[in-house]
Amino acid sequence: MAQRTFSIIKPDAVRKGYTGAILAEIEKAGFKLAAIKKQAISNDQAKGFYHVHAERPFFKDLCTFMSTGPLFLMVLEKENAIADLRKLMGATNPANAEEGTIRKKFAGSIQENAIHGSDAEDTAAFEIGYWFAGYELI
Ligand code: GDP
Repeated sequence: MAQRTFSIIKPDAVRKGYTGAILAEIEKAGFKLAAIKKQAISNDQAKGFYHVHAERPFFKDLCTFMSTGPLFLMVLEKENAIADLRKLMGATNPANAEEGTIRKKFAGSIQENAIHGSDAEDTAAFEIGYWFAGYELI
Protein backbone atom coordinates (compact mmCIF):
# COMPACT_ATOMS: atom_id res chain seq x y z
CA MET A 1 0.00 0.00 0.00
CA ALA A 2 1.19 3.50 -0.78
CA GLN A 3 2.76 5.43 2.08
CA ARG A 4 3.01 9.19 2.43
CA THR A 5 6.03 11.17 3.47
CA PHE A 6 6.72 14.86 3.87
CA SER A 7 9.50 16.68 2.04
CA ILE A 8 10.86 20.19 1.57
CA ILE A 9 12.97 21.59 -1.25
CA LYS A 10 14.97 23.92 0.97
CA PRO A 11 15.65 27.63 0.27
CA ASP A 12 19.24 27.03 -0.92
CA ALA A 13 18.09 24.70 -3.71
CA VAL A 14 15.21 26.98 -4.70
CA ARG A 15 17.61 29.96 -4.85
CA LYS A 16 20.05 28.05 -7.04
CA GLY A 17 17.32 27.05 -9.50
CA TYR A 18 17.41 23.32 -8.68
CA THR A 19 13.67 22.88 -7.97
CA GLY A 20 12.81 21.34 -11.34
CA ALA A 21 15.84 19.04 -11.35
CA ILE A 22 15.06 17.80 -7.82
CA LEU A 23 11.40 17.21 -8.70
CA ALA A 24 12.55 15.22 -11.73
CA GLU A 25 14.73 12.99 -9.50
CA ILE A 26 11.79 12.47 -7.15
CA GLU A 27 9.38 11.52 -9.95
CA LYS A 28 11.98 9.35 -11.69
CA ALA A 29 12.28 7.41 -8.42
CA GLY A 30 8.56 6.61 -8.56
CA PHE A 31 7.08 9.10 -6.11
CA LYS A 32 3.72 10.75 -6.83
CA LEU A 33 3.36 14.39 -5.82
CA ALA A 34 0.26 14.24 -3.59
CA ALA A 35 0.62 17.96 -2.78
CA ILE A 36 3.10 20.77 -3.37
CA LYS A 37 3.11 24.46 -2.47
CA LYS A 38 5.64 27.29 -2.52
CA GLN A 39 5.86 29.23 0.72
CA ALA A 40 8.15 31.62 2.58
CA ILE A 41 8.12 30.50 6.20
CA SER A 42 8.75 32.56 9.33
CA ASN A 43 11.44 31.85 11.89
CA ASP A 44 8.74 30.83 14.39
CA GLN A 45 7.18 28.40 11.90
CA ALA A 46 10.63 26.86 11.34
CA LYS A 47 11.14 26.55 15.11
CA GLY A 48 7.83 24.71 15.50
CA PHE A 49 8.62 22.40 12.62
CA TYR A 50 12.10 21.52 13.94
CA HIS A 51 11.09 21.44 17.62
CA VAL A 52 12.76 18.04 18.12
CA HIS A 53 16.10 19.72 17.39
CA ALA A 54 15.55 22.59 19.86
CA GLU A 55 18.50 21.54 22.05
CA ARG A 56 20.94 20.99 19.18
CA PRO A 57 23.73 23.57 18.72
CA PHE A 58 22.70 24.23 15.11
CA PHE A 59 18.99 24.86 15.89
CA LYS A 60 19.07 28.66 15.71
CA ASP A 61 21.11 28.76 12.50
CA LEU A 62 18.92 26.08 10.91
CA CYS A 63 15.70 27.99 11.65
CA THR A 64 17.24 31.23 10.36
CA PHE A 65 18.34 29.49 7.17
CA MET A 66 14.92 27.95 6.57
CA SER A 67 13.34 31.41 6.62
CA THR A 68 15.83 33.05 4.22
CA GLY A 69 13.64 32.53 1.17
CA PRO A 70 10.81 30.57 -0.41
CA LEU A 71 10.79 26.80 -0.29
CA PHE A 72 8.56 24.03 -1.62
CA LEU A 73 6.53 21.98 0.86
CA MET A 74 5.53 18.57 -0.50
CA VAL A 75 3.67 15.39 0.33
CA LEU A 76 5.07 12.43 -1.61
CA GLU A 77 3.43 9.08 -2.08
CA LYS A 78 4.70 5.61 -2.99
CA GLU A 79 5.24 2.23 -1.41
CA ASN A 80 7.92 2.54 1.29
CA ALA A 81 8.01 6.31 0.68
CA ILE A 82 9.67 7.29 3.97
CA ALA A 83 12.71 5.01 3.73
CA ASP A 84 13.02 5.35 -0.05
CA LEU A 85 13.08 9.15 0.08
CA ARG A 86 15.76 9.07 2.80
CA LYS A 87 17.85 6.84 0.52
CA LEU A 88 17.30 9.13 -2.48
CA MET A 89 18.24 12.22 -0.38
CA GLY A 90 21.60 10.86 0.83
CA ALA A 91 23.49 11.67 4.03
CA THR A 92 22.82 14.92 5.92
CA ASN A 93 26.33 16.13 5.13
CA PRO A 94 26.74 16.16 1.33
CA ALA A 95 30.43 15.32 1.82
CA ASN A 96 29.27 11.89 3.04
CA ALA A 97 26.38 11.45 0.57
CA GLU A 98 26.53 8.62 -1.93
CA GLU A 99 26.94 9.23 -5.66
CA GLY A 100 23.60 9.71 -7.39
CA THR A 101 21.77 11.07 -4.33
CA ILE A 102 20.01 14.45 -4.33
CA ARG A 103 22.30 15.87 -1.65
CA LYS A 104 25.42 14.71 -3.50
CA LYS A 105 24.17 16.49 -6.63
CA PHE A 106 22.56 19.62 -5.20
CA ALA A 107 23.56 20.30 -1.56
CA GLY A 108 26.16 22.92 -0.65
CA SER A 109 26.83 22.16 3.03
CA ILE A 110 25.63 20.16 6.04
CA GLN A 111 23.11 22.93 6.77
CA GLU A 112 22.19 24.08 3.27
CA ASN A 113 21.53 20.55 2.08
CA ALA A 114 18.77 21.03 -0.51
CA ILE A 115 16.08 18.69 0.78
CA HIS A 116 14.23 17.48 3.87
CA GLY A 117 12.48 14.13 4.25
CA SER A 118 10.60 12.70 7.24
CA ASP A 119 12.55 10.01 9.11
CA ALA A 120 9.70 7.86 10.49
CA GLU A 121 5.92 7.30 10.31
CA ASP A 122 5.15 9.42 13.37
CA THR A 123 7.28 12.36 12.21
CA ALA A 124 5.77 12.13 8.69
CA ALA A 125 2.27 12.37 10.19
CA PHE A 126 3.25 15.36 12.35
CA GLU A 127 5.04 17.15 9.49
CA ILE A 128 2.24 16.65 6.92
CA GLY A 129 -0.30 17.93 9.45
CA TYR A 130 1.93 20.88 10.37
CA TRP A 131 2.01 22.27 6.81
CA PHE A 132 -1.07 20.91 5.02
CA ALA A 133 -4.79 21.00 5.69
CA GLY A 134 -6.87 17.91 4.88
CA TYR A 135 -8.53 19.57 1.90
CA GLU A 136 -5.14 20.09 0.25
CA LEU A 137 -4.45 16.35 0.22
CA ILE A 138 -7.35 14.91 -1.75
P1 GDP B 1 18.32 15.09 8.15
O1 GDP B 1 17.26 14.18 8.71
O2 GDP B 1 19.31 14.39 7.25
O3 GDP B 1 17.74 16.31 7.47
O4 GDP B 1 19.21 15.61 9.37
P2 GDP B 1 18.82 16.01 10.88
O5 GDP B 1 17.40 15.66 11.20
O6 GDP B 1 19.89 15.46 11.77
O7 GDP B 1 18.99 17.59 10.90
C1 GDP B 1 18.00 18.45 10.37
C2 GDP B 1 18.68 19.51 9.53
O8 GDP B 1 19.53 20.29 10.36
C3 GDP B 1 19.64 18.98 8.44
O9 GDP B 1 19.00 18.57 7.26
C4 GDP B 1 20.53 20.19 8.22
O10 GDP B 1 19.88 21.18 7.41
C5 GDP B 1 20.69 20.72 9.65
N1 GDP B 1 21.86 20.15 10.33
C6 GDP B 1 22.05 18.88 10.77
N2 GDP B 1 23.23 18.72 11.36
C7 GDP B 1 23.84 19.94 11.31
C8 GDP B 1 25.10 20.43 11.77
O11 GDP B 1 25.92 19.71 12.36
N3 GDP B 1 25.36 21.75 11.54
C9 GDP B 1 24.48 22.58 10.89
N4 GDP B 1 24.80 23.87 10.70
N5 GDP B 1 23.27 22.15 10.46
C10 GDP B 1 22.96 20.84 10.64
